[in-house]
Amino acid sequence: MTATLTGSNDAWRARSLRAVWHPCTQMKAHGAPDGPQADSTPLIAIASAEGPWLVDVEGRRYLDGISSWWTNLFGHGHPAIRSALVDQLSRLDHTMLAGLTHAPVVELSERLAALTGLGHAFYASDGASATEIALKMSAHYWRNAGKPGKNRFVALQGGYHGETAGALGVTDIAIFREAYAPLVRLSTTVASPDARGARGGESAADVAHRAARDLGAWLAEHHEETAAFIVEPLVQCATGMAMHDPAYLREARALCSAFGVHLVVDEIAVGFGRTGTMFAHQQAGIRPDFICLSKGLTGGTLPLAAVLTTDAVYDAFYDDDAARGFLHSHSYTGNPLACRAALATLDIFERENVLAVNVERAGMVDGFLAPLHAHERVRNARRLGMIWAWDIVGAPANFARRYARHALDRGLLLRPIGATLYAMPPYVLEDDTARHLADGALAALEATLAEAEPSLFDDEKALP
Ligand SMILES: *Cc1c(COP(=O)(O)O)cnc(C)c1O
Repeated sequence: MTATLTGSNDAWRARSLRAVWHPCTQMKAHGAPDGPQADSTPLIAIASAEGPWLVDVEGRRYLDGISSWWTNLFGHGHPAIRSALVDQLSRLDHTMLAGLTHAPVVELSERLAALTGLGHAFYASDGASATEIALKMSAHYWRNAGKPGKNRFVALQGGYHGETAGALGVTDIAIFREAYAPLVRLSTTVASPDARGARGGESAADVAHRAARDLGAWLAEHHEETAAFIVEPLVQCATGMAMHDPAYLREARALCSAFGVHLVVDEIAVGFGRTGTMFAHQQAGIRPDFICLSKGLTGGTLPLAAVLTTDAVYDAFYDDDAARGFLHSHSYTGNPLACRAALATLDIFERENVLAVNVERAGMVDGFLAPLHAHERVRNARRLGMIWAWDIVGAPANFARRYARHALDRGLLLRPIGATLYAMPPYVLEDDTARHLADGALAALEATLAEAEPSLFDDEKALP
C-alpha cells in the first residue's frame, strides 16, 4: 500500500492518530481517532509543499511561517536542491563513513571549514546528537589532556540544546526536562543575557555585561570541574525568541579563555543566515571552540548535523592509542544524500547573495508587520535578521494553542511559544506572501483575544 496525495483530512487524521506517535504532542489533545477533530489542536494532513506553502490533502494552503520547525531556508521543493538529490541518488545513496569516504562529505567538510574557520567536521543526523557530540568531545579532550575532572558543563537559563538524555542536561526548559530529571546529569545554569531583563535605564549591552558577570563568578569557582560552556548565540529560540547583545558572546569568549573552558556555540537554529549573518556568533567577532549545526544545514530537506572544532581539540585525540580517539558513531554519519543537499544549500547562498537580499526582504516584511508591532497588546516587538517575535500581554489561557488554530483558519502555520508569538519564515517571501503572513498573524491575534477574557497568567505549558 502506498500513500496517496488525496483523501479526506479526517481519514488521514484517524489513521495517523492510530499509527503515529507525534513529536512534542499530548496525543489526547488531538481528540479520539474516530471522534471529531479537536477544535483547539487540529491535526492537518499535508500532501505536498512548494515554496513557502504547505498544501493539505483537501487542497487548502498554509504559509509555513515557522519554516517547519526552523529547518527550511529557501522554500519547499527548491529545484536546485531537488536536482542535486536526484543526481546523488543515481550515484551513491549511502555508505558507512568508517573506513570509507565520498565526495559529498569531503566537499561539505571543506566548505564548512572555509565558512567557519573551524574544521574536522563530525556528522550526525539531528541537532540533539550534535550537542551530545560537542559535549562528549569537550570532556574527552580534557581527559586526553590529563584533566579528567573537567567533565561538567554550564549553560544559560532558558537554554535549549535538544532532548536526548545528554542534551537535556544542558537544556533548561522545564516541560521538556521535568519527567526525565532522574535520568539526566543536570548542568548548572547561569543568568540569561535576554535583553528583556533590562532594569531601569539599562541597555541590552548592560544586561549582557551583568549576565557575563554571573558566568564569570561561576567559572571562577568551578572551572576546574568544567569542560565547556554552551550557548545559543544571539537568540535563545525555544524559550521564546529571547535575544541578546553580541557583547555577551565577546565577554563569554574572554571568560572561557581565561578559565580554560571550551565555548560551544549551538547554531542549530540560528545558523545559515537566520540572524542576518551566516552564523550568529560572527556578529560578535569571536571564534568558538565548537560549533553545532543542523536544521537549515540541508535547506530543510534531510536530517543532518555537524560539529566543527579547533585543531587543538582534534590534535588531542590524534594518537597511536585507539582509546584516545573519538569513537562515537551513528549508522548514517555523513549520509551522502544529506551532504549533497547541504552542498546545494551552500551553493544557493553563494549564487543568490542571500544574506544581502535578506536585508531588503526583512525590511519589506517589516513594512507589512507594522500594525502588529504597534498592537496595543504587544510588548517587546523585536527582530533579528529573519526572526520576528512579539510578547502578548494579558494573553488568555492556552493562548498558543488557540492562536495556532486561528492562524491555520487563515492559511498560516504559526505556533506561539507560551505568550510569545513569533515568525521565522523561509527566505522566499515576496510582497504577496509577506502580506498574507502579516495580515493573517494580526487577524489571528485579534480572533484569539476576542475569544477569551484575558487572564493574569498563562496556564498553558506551551509546546513549540
Ligand atoms: C532544535 C534545536 C536543537 C535540537 O535539534 P533536533 O534536531 O531537534 O534534535 C538543539 N539546539 C537548538 C538551539 C535547537 O533549536
